[in-house]
Amino acid sequence: MDNKQVQQEQLRKIPKVDKLLQLEQGQELCGRFSPALAAQAIRQSIDSLRAAILRGEEASLCEGEILRGAQQRLEEEQNPSLRRVINATGVVLHTNLGRAAMAQEAARAAMQVAGSYNTLEYSLQTGSRGSRHDHVESLICQITGAEAAMAVNNNAAAVMLMLSALAKGKEVVVSRGELVEIGGSFRVPEIMEQSGAVLQEVGTTNKTRAADYERAIGENTAALLKVHPSNFRISGFCEEATLEELKPIARSHGIPLLYDIGSGLLASPERMGLPEEPSVQRSLAAGADVICFSGDKLLGGPQAGILAGNKELIAAMKKHPLARALRLDKMTLAALEATLRLYQDPEQALKKVPTLAMICATPAELNEKAQRIYGMLSGRARELAKIQPEQGQVGGGSVPGHNLPGMALCIEGGAYSPDVLEEKLRGQKLPIIARIAHDQLILDMRTVLAGDEEPIARSLNELLNGEEA
Ligand SMILES: *Cc1c(COP(=O)(O)O)cnc(C)c1O
Repeated sequence: MDNKQVQQEQLRKIPKVDKLLQLEQGQELCGRFSPALAAQAIRQSIDSLRAAILRGEEASLCEGEILRGAQQRLEEEQNPSLRRVINATGVVLHTNLGRAAMAQEAARAAMQVAGSYNTLEYSLQTGSRGSRHDHVESLICQITGAEAAMAVNNNAAAVMLMLSALAKGKEVVVSRGELVEIGGSFRVPEIMEQSGAVLQEVGTTNKTRAADYERAIGENTAALLKVHPSNFRISGFCEEATLEELKPIARSHGIPLLYDIGSGLLASPERMGLPEEPSVQRSLAAGADVICFSGDKLLGGPQAGILAGNKELIAAMKKHPLARALRLDKMTLAALEATLRLYQDPEQALKKVPTLAMICATPAELNEKAQRIYGMLSGRARELAKIQPEQGQVGGGSVPGHNLPGMALCIEGGAYSPDVLEEKLRGQKLPIIARIAHDQLILDMRTVLAGDEEPIARSLNELLNGEEA
């Protein structure tokens, strides 16, 4: 027989879909998934087998193997696209990994309203329509000292709504040092243009004084806007106008002073050991009329944008048509309410809001976590692992350049290069996202949540003890 004939012979021998479905393993797939899905997966396995034969590759015609391939296909397809991963990067607010991991209290609250009817827009007192703003407004006011508040889809939406409602068709004065870009698609000049407000730039990149704002105010000026440059720091010959300096200027011209804080730190920056991060409470106390900030950065809650401040101005935003387009859904509101409740006791928030707890975690605490994983390692995995100090970051464009001294479990040497091991950990059923530095695989303990230790140890044991060394 020549090659062609061998190929024909092999193609003829490929088992038929119907026959495979009848086998015990095939029936099992029908039961676990569905007959239609099982047949489809078997057909796909056969197609790739046929293609392999035609390419002249070695291919197994074994029925069991074809069915195992189909099973693997079905199992992979069952994995949701948006799924849980273990963050072992040490970046607390990891933009690609869903930013803030919420408190258990918040996750439970979201789940509870998701699968049932609820009081989203219903007052149990009157038995009639209520407002969805009510669930978080008084909490935000109580915690921040604001007169009024509302929450929307994210902070970009909050800035958009604030400018649209308060400054459409009018000028807003902004320092050239604060025309920032946050995460690619949020640029202050562009969002301003979208909102219909006209940007009036003042000062220079490194220095803007209160007098620069004052000189720019004219008949058509609607507001002064300050933006916290969250994701970079300038140092050296620089100067910015403070809220305290701008407040009397805004007052004397009868226009509001607006402040986009970005990160939404409700805890005390000193208590957290965070340098130069504006606090929500202090910004309001310093004279901002409306501030806005994210719900899922340093606040540590769900994706949201919070607006807080002057009652009339917030009322104007609530009434604006965009408020409807940018509003929050019930799950997010429930999670936000539960997160804010934790802040009623600031010390409790530091423990129960994971973002805060992770930022405050000491090297000694992180070392304990690493030791717990190390203690579960065996054989080769244990030989290749060591615990060493590493620097973590807040991330999410917050507190740039501020390193958090921590501890990591590192894997060095062995049959897999750090790149390959990183990829294999990412491919686990419960994916583990690690980073690579100085030719080691680094599992940074800061962002490893309670309960993640065991699956990490299991994956390391499986991969490193089963390796073809
Ligand atoms: C992060 C940030 C935003 C955007 O907030 P999102 O919640 O991501 O929409 C806007 N302004 C500043 C200053 C920020 O730091």
